Amino acid sequence: KSKQLGKNRCQFYSQDMQEAARLRVQLETELRMAIERKEFVLFYQPIIDAERGCVSGAEALLRWHHPSRGIVAPDEFITIAEDTGLIVPIGAWVLSEVLRQANAWRIRGLPPLRVAVNVSGVQFREQGLVEMITQASCTPGFDEITLVLEITESVLMQSSEVTEARLREIGLLGIEYSLDDFGTGYSSLSYLKRFPVGHVKIDRSFVNDCTDDRNDALLVEAIINMAHSLGLKVTAEGVETERQRAFLRARNCDYLQGYLISEPLPAADFELFVLRNGSRTPLTRVPACPKH
Ligand code: C2E
Ligand code: MG
Ligand code: MG
Ligand code: MG
Repeated sequence: KSKQLGKNRCQFYSQDMQEAARLRVQLETELRMAIERKEFVLFYQPIIDAERGCVSGAEALLRWHHPSRGIVAPDEFITIAEDTGLIVPIGAWVLSEVLRQANAWRIRGLPPLRVAVNVSGVQFREQGLVEMITQASCTPGFDEITLVLEITESVLMQSSEVTEARLREIGLLGIEYSLDDFGTGYSSLSYLKRFPVGHVKIDRSFVNDCTDDRNDALLVEAIINMAHSLGLKVTAEGVETERQRAFLRARNCDYLQGYLISEPLPAADFELFVLRNGSRTPLTRVPACPKH
């Protein structure tokens, strides 16, 4: 009897796995068509200067307007896009769209902004990356904005001489690097000196607990101090409460990003956010920074 049960269970699992595999193939097929069908859209989350409260720039975050499932978050499709290599054309679209949007903002009179884009490690292993970014840097208005590429530690950890050369070559175009999700990986600041990285972003899991958990508080403090002593700027991500903001400001964190300031916004709403002087936001005034 137990043997029979075991067999049923096997069937059950294998059906589950078949279903999962089927969904994956379907997702991949849909993802392949998503660019042509113009189903991707970028949201922009404001990043503010911690001390002055003014808008320093934005992080562009990818969303997929799926025809039947509605808005799909990147965590649900970036991994598949990386596994299938689809992240390469998707990443190229993201970059060109960000530059198009930043130039549109510039023409409409918005002050110069820092615009950050997430770049996957898979993209850095591609030969065409430097050429793609060099071409992108020739788009109108490129010199008026600061383009920041957000990379994760894994890109630096697995880096070969080739990656290192690519990082430098792209850096020569005036593009900056920011180390994303800092604190979740090896968090060795020492190798940062080897790369043209000017910026770290403290992962939101540490920011989340920095006002309740003594270890996280010490860690956040240590990251800020070490980064500063290496000449790096620090952004805290996932800032959700006034207490977190006060904690981070008191420790000289340079920039803040999180729901307390704003959720990721459609481009038009981000523009309003920059222009607005209203008092309904947690900040009394949100003028644009005179200079980064
Ligand atoms: P990330 O680069 O670390 O982006 C920050 C994530 O935290 C975003 O999630 C953002 O919406 C979320 N977030 C911001 N403030 C808060 C907060 O106060 N509380 C909480 N709970 N969350 C907050 P999102 O947009 O779902 O993106 C998830 C990840 O997907 C990103 O993490 C990034 O690794 C990746 N991703 C997004 N867009 C792109 C893209 O264009 N290309 C690539 N390669 N990856 C992307
Ligand atoms: Mg990021
Ligand atoms: Mg992050
Ligand atoms: Mg992340």
